[in-house]
Amino acid sequence: MSKTFEDFQFNRQILNAIEEAGYTSPTLIQQKAITPILSGNDLMGIAQTGTGKTAAYVLPMVMKLKYAQGQNPRALILVPTRELALQVLEATQALAKYTDLRITAIFGGLGPKTQIETIKSGVDVIIATPGRFMEIYLKEELIVKQLNYFVIDEADKMMDMGFLPQIHKILEIIPRKRQNLLFSATMHQRVETLAGDFLKFPVKVEVTQQATPAETVSQALYYVPNLKSKINLMMHLLKDEEDISKLIVFTKTKTTADNIAKYLVRRFGEEQVRVIHANKGQNSRINAINQFKNDDIRILVATDVAARGLDVSDVSHVINFDVPLIYEDYVHRIGRTGRANKTGDAITFCNEAEKFHIEKIQKLIRQQIPVIEIPQGVFVEETAYDERQAMAREIDEQKRKADPDFKGAFHEKKNPFAKKAEKTKKDQKRSYVDPKSKEARFGPKDKNKGKRR
Ligand code: AMP
Repeated sequence: MSKTFEDFQFNRQILNAIEEAGYTSPTLIQQKAITPILSGNDLMGIAQTGTGKTAAYVLPMVMKLKYAQGQNPRALILVPTRELALQVLEATQALAKYTDLRITAIFGGLGPKTQIETIKSGVDVIIATPGRFMEIYLKEELIVKQLNYFVIDEADKMMDMGFLPQIHKILEIIPRKRQNLLFSATMHQRVETLAGDFLKFPVKVEVTQQATPAETVSQALYYVPNLKSKINLMMHLLKDEEDISKLIVFTKTKTTADNIAKYLVRRFGEEQVRVIHANKGQNSRINAINQFKNDDIRILVATDVAARGLDVSDVSHVINFDVPLIYEDYVHRIGRTGRANKTGDAITFCNEAEKFHIEKIQKLIRQQIPVIEIPQGVFVEETAYDERQAMAREIDEQKRKADPDFKGAFHEKKNPFAKKAEKTKKDQKRSYVDPKSKEARFGPKDKNKGKRR
């Protein structure tokens, strides 16, 4: 199994795109799937969203297609929903950034005219929902005879949504000589049957971690409504600084990482804190990690993507400032604390949009992470308009992904927040603190006093 992206012998364009995306090491599914795909095997991958499965089939595809060629598509990625189509499009565009490959997504819900025009202007990769693909094909606007890389993503969902007949039609029209890949979150009988229909001697890879965090790690989950409050909470938790011998703070974005580092530097001094993310040069990243390993600094702030595969043990505290999007990372991260019978603390902050991911993580680790109320004295700020909007959008997307018929509260209502705020208040009971409540101003009744700082 390949442990680094260099091991796959990708070309420079791809390695640069990977570096720019901030990925430092391949995820498990990528380690297992990329080599057999590069060697031309058919493959069946059992992997859920959050494992890095998209890049597992996109990276070898970009490597094989290399550059724009001719008018007709050479790769087809079938997906069940428009949301996934857009997501895969975005991932593919990022990873093919330094090539001239022409990538497009086609799906229902809007007229096919523009999509047909794009196809006619020449494309290399088509990401499509089955219905729209057939529709355009039947209009004779799509020439499929050059397709030789064929992916079905989220096959189980395709089956659930009744796409099997359309998939069969597509299999009839595309060339026989091609490479086939099938990805599915689960391994149902129906998926197995579909796999049998078109995969030839497939390599099977599966990522099902036996993810059980060590018992010496004490996990805690705080529901925190927004970025500013997360900062307030973090600074509050870090008050007892003697406790914290080695801390990693993981964030989702580079901006947040830089922001947080500023606060930490102010509190602990510049000589204690380093930041790593994709915009930092390779040397600066390596230096920071070494200093952290050698205990020359105490605090490392890292973006999720830059921190994958980071091998540092004996960390006393991990703060997931944002919930990790690669769920296996949660387990690795908290595994870094609590080594050699020392106890460690793994603390996760979760806003409303991140609840979706935390639920998946809890499923993966087969544990509920203990929820702790925001302690007294932490100022819970109001959520800024932009942040609120971004979260609402994210929640809409999650709902639509789970149920393609979901219409989306965000786009339909003129003022989604008025309704949403009302509903949120009712739903959440005490998991969030209403910024205007007594509790927010004076702190909660401190049930957990003494339990955790
Ligand atoms: P997926 O499971 O394909 O939906 O990917 C989940 C998330 O992981 C996406 O936000 C990807 O950008 C990110 N991702 C994929 N591969 C890596 C990697 N090797 N390192 C860090 N992040 C990754």
